[in-house]
This record gives sequence, C-alpha cells and structure tokens, in this order.
Amino acid sequence: MLFLFAYCGLAVVALPAGGLERGAVLVWPAAGLLVAILLHAPHRQWPEFLTLAAVGSVAAALLTGSGYAAAASMALANVLEAWFAARLLRRRKRHESELLREWLADAGAIGAVAPVAGGLVLATLLYRLAGWPWELQFARYVFAHALGIMAFFPMFSLLVGGGFAQWFVRQPAGRRFELFAFLGLIAVTTCAALWQAGLAAYLVPILASLIAICRFGMKAGSVAIFTIAVAGWGAFVAGTQVHAVLPAALSPTELADERFLQFYLALAVLCLQPLAGHITQNRRLASALRERGQASTAVELSLQAKDFAIAESQGMYRLLAENMSDIVIKTDHAGYILYASPSAERLGEFHPIELIGRHVLDLIHPSYGASFQSEFDEVIGGSVAASAWTEFLGFSNAGLERWFDTRIRGWRDRESTGDRKIAGTIITMRSIEERKALEQQLFAAILTDPLTNLTNRRAFNSMLQYHLEAPIDGCLAIFDIDDFRSINREYGHEVGDKVLTTVARLLRSLMRKDDIISRIGGERFAVLLSGANPDQAEALCQRVVMTLADISGPEGLGGPKTTVSAGVARIRGSLDETMKRADSAVVIAKAKGRNRLEMATNGRQRWSPGQVPWIEDGS
Ligand code: GH3
Ligand code: MG
Repeated sequence: MLFLFAYCGLAVVALPAGGLERGAVLVWPAAGLLVAILLHAPHRQWPEFLTLAAVGSVAAALLTGSGYAAAASMALANVLEAWFAARLLRRRKRHESELLREWLADAGAIGAVAPVAGGLVLATLLYRLAGWPWELQFARYVFAHALGIMAFFPMFSLLVGGGFAQWFVRQPAGRRFELFAFLGLIAVTTCAALWQAGLAAYLVPILASLIAICRFGMKAGSVAIFTIAVAGWGAFVAGTQVHAVLPAALSPTELADERFLQFYLALAVLCLQPLAGHITQNRRLASALRERGQASTAVELSLQAKDFAIAESQGMYRLLAENMSDIVIKTDHAGYILYASPSAERLGEFHPIELIGRHVLDLIHPSYGASFQSEFDEVIGGSVAASAWTEFLGFSNAGLERWFDTRIRGWRDRESTGDRKIAGTIITMRSIEERKALEQQLFAAILTDPLTNLTNRRAFNSMLQYHLEAPIDGCLAIFDIDDFRSINREYGHEVGDKVLTTVARLLRSLMRKDDIISRIGGERFAVLLSGANPDQAEALCQRVVMTLADISGPEGLGGPKTTVSAGVARIRGSLDETMKRADSAVVIAKAKGRNRLEMATNGRQRWSPGQVPWIEDGS
C-alpha cells in the first residue's frame, strides 16, 4: 500500500497539470522506484507490484486530467518497461571488481533499452487510440523515463535494499555530518542555479558532487545525483528562469526550460555515476595494494596499478570468486550480504544480486542458525582469524536443503572505519551434497541385508532400543524357517536363498506399512510391530505362518515346501529380555511341532509353563 501511494505520488508530481494532452513529462522518477522494488522483491511478488504500479499510474493520470486512452497506454508502457528493465538487470552476471563496466552495462539496459521498449508501446498505443503524433510521444517518453530511471533508480535501490542504511550507520559521526553538509550544498546550489537567471552557477553542484564522491565513494554518487534531481525538479516546478539566459533560438520559453533541466540532469548522471564507479574501483585497488605492502609511494602505486589490476582483480579475484564452484559471500559486520559470487545460483532460485542486502542467516537452515551465528561472532569479535570448515545445512528460497562445508573469515576495511577493525566476513560455502549422498549410501549399506534388502540385525537392534527408551508400546515377532538346513541340503543353497527372499517378500506384503521387518540371522526374521497390542500382533503373525504354509511347495510357488515357526513378545524391559522372550516363544513353537505361532504371555507359555520357567513377559 505504501508502494502504491509512493508510486502514485511520484507520478502525480511528474505529470503536467491538465493531463498528458497539455504537456510533456520532464522526468519520471516512478520508473526508478518500480525497477528498484522489482530488483529486490522475489519473483513471485512481481505481479503484485506491477499491478499496483498500473493502478497508481492510471490513478495519477486521471487525477491530473489525462483522458482514459492516455491513462491506460501509460500504465501499460510503464509496467512493461519496468518488467523489462528488472529482467535485464537480474540476468546479468556481475563483476564486483569492474564497477565502471558494470555501470555502462546497467545504463545501457535500464537507461536505454527499457525506456525505448516502453516508448514504443506508449507511442504506438496513443497513435492508434487517439491519433497523437508518434515521434513526439516516443521521444518525450524515452527522455523522461531514461532520466527518471538513471537519476532515481540507484538511490531507490539503495533505500529499498537496505544498502544505504547499512553504509550510513557504519560512517563515524563526523563523516555523517560532512556528508549532510555536502548534500545541503548540492541541493542549495542546484536550486540557486536553476531558479535565478543572473548567475550561471550550473557547475557548482556538479563540482560539490565530485568532491563528495572522492571523499565517500560510489554511494555518495547515487545520493548526489538524487539530490540534484530532486532539487532541480523542485526548482523547475517552482518556476525557473533558465530560458532568460539561454539563446533565443531555444524558444518557446517553456520548452527551453524543460530541455535545459533534462540536459542538466543527463549531464549530472552521465558525468557523476561513471566517475564514481571509476574512483571507487581505483580506491579499492589502492587499498588492496597497500594491504599487501607492495607499493610504498604514489608513483609506484600508479605504475603497478595496471599490472596489479590484471593480476589481482581479474586473475585472482575472478579465479577465486567466479570460476570456482565454491560460493563466496561477503558480509558486513552484522551479517548482511554485500556480495555473492555467481556460483550462489546453486542456492536454489537465488540470483546472486538478490542476495545483496539479505542476512546470511537466511541461507542457513534454522536448525543450524545458532551454531553458525556463534562461529560468525567469534570471527567478528577477532578471537579467531577464521573458523574451521564446518558442515551446515544450507537453505534456499525454494525450500531446498543442501549440505555445505562452510568457513568464515574476517575482512578489514582500513578506508571506511579508519582503523584495522574487522569490518565483515568472507564466507566460503562448498557443496558437500555428493559426499553426503555417499555417506548415506554407506550408512544404508551398513544397515541393510544385501540378499533380501531388509534392514539387518544391527539396524533392528537400534530401532528396538529406541522403542524401549522412548518408550513406545508394541510387540516383537521372530520368524524362524523350519528345517532350513534340509532345504539347503536337498535343493542347494541357491534355492535356499530364493526361499529367504520369498519369505522376506511375504512378510513385507502381509505386515502393516510401518512395521519394521529385518533379517536378523541366517533364516531368522524379526518384525517390530510398533503400537500393536498382543492380540493384533498375534493375528498379523498368524496370517504369515498360515499363508506361507498354504502358498509354498510344488502346488503353490513352485519352490520347496516352506514353513515358519514364530514367537511374539511384548516390548518391555531391556533389549536382551525382549529378544529372549520372543526367542523362547519360537523354541516352544518348534518344540510343539513347527509351522505355528506362540505368544509369550504373563511370564508363562500357554503350552508348557512348567518346562520353561525362565520365560517372563512382565506385562
Ligand atoms: P529349525 O527348524 O530347528 O529352525 O531347523 P533349521 O535347519 O532351520 O535350523 P538350523 O539353525 O539348524 O539351520 C539353519 C541353516 O540356515 C544353516 C545354514 O546353512 C542356513 N543358512 C544360513 N544363512 C543362509 C543363507 O544366507 N542362505 C542359505 N541358503 N542358507 C543359509
Ligand atoms: Mg530354522
């Protein structure tokens, strides 16, 4: 809702009184806001913001007196343009080390390609719907939108992404004051230069901005241009006298004022932003050189800069950050992400640029959040230079979970903090998905019986132990194939193996879905009937004994006649006690003639309590 009001407000101020029909839009800051919002919002929220922008656009056009055709055409062109610009920005791969090249590519995308696309849509629609002159509308749209995006997008993006607040908070109080003083100077001189006609002081704001950029770097450039644009626009709305000092050939006067403001803003944008990028790039380079102690004088520094730029920023930097499969993330001291290498795309649907401004804990699974934070704090606090490689479960915005080996190192920024304090961290994340998968396979192999693919005795014991400790009620059943030795002898071991797999399959098909079935010995199977009472367990196991006797043999499955003896005991006491009671019930079943089930109940067997006094159930 706030966005709707902001967008609509910016549009109302920018539109000429009396509607589009009565005049031209000078500069369209709403486009800068919309592109910034789209760049920082997840994809799924784009339709919402684009719809709000369309509503805001129509409302603003109608409020200022434009006709329906103009309002609808404008809304469509605005939305398409912003969508296109945001897509172009997101698709590009970024190289933090080459800010100037970055700026040129961005400027081409959002300052030229997107406004031209929007202009084509608007001019064509207005020509078709209302017969307005195509060339004039196209040119007006492109200039106003190119300026709106180029002058306002950088600052809106810093505000929306939180980058400005973080940067500002990190500045010491004195430097904040200095920054405000510069901005005040820029605003006042811009207004003064555009308001009055006598003194041609147009270069003063540009000079003040240049000094601010040299002092504060790239972000100051965005703020300075924003300030010039707002102040200049304000002065223009209040009524400038620029035309009075311009050549008469630029009449009519209103047009001269309009052209001059556009020209002035374009000059500010095209001068200041690339210069800010260039200066910041060189400052980083110089600071890197200083760190390494490779240049002691300014002359040496400038001589080495070129080679070093190639070796350090292109060679090392790209090699490390962009060609490696490791994900490299740079954060500030609070954990907010300042940079993510292109390989961060491995984190699900994240585009590296989307990560900027987010907190690094967004990438860590909540169950690992506390341990990650404590390692992070240790590095930031300076108690360790770097954490050890630690396994963390990563968390993507698509809800995917991925394993990473992660290492956190501190980085120091001599320039902005004025000392050698740790200013943030470099986090390296290395995917260990393959290793984890292998570990899981090995783990599964250790716990699985290869012949039947059932869990083995080791796995079964740990699951039984878990039931006993929890405690979870239920029953344990043991099935022992009758006279298996003679099956092996008569038919051979291979047939014996087939009998084992047949019994395993039968158990799987007759037991409940959640029952745990294991092969715990040569021809012994155990089943953990979680939650089943003795009556239920008896019924289920009885069915196994009877079915096997029915289906095996020459008339049934074709193999040798096979039967089992089974014993069932309730899960109680220790693991050994429970196993012993079920085992003893099997012994009884064998003794009673095999092919049957016996229950261990209340410390006595139903069949011969006197003969087996050590069988106790305890239930
Ligand atoms: P009972 O009815 O008393 O249980 O007699 P039994 O012959 O089934 O019992 P015994 O424990 O004397 O014999 C078990 C036989 O199972 C011995 C062994 O050769 C055989 N055996 C164990 N593991 C395997 C296996 O993986 N494959 C085959 N084919 N036979 C096995
Ligand atoms: Mg046997």
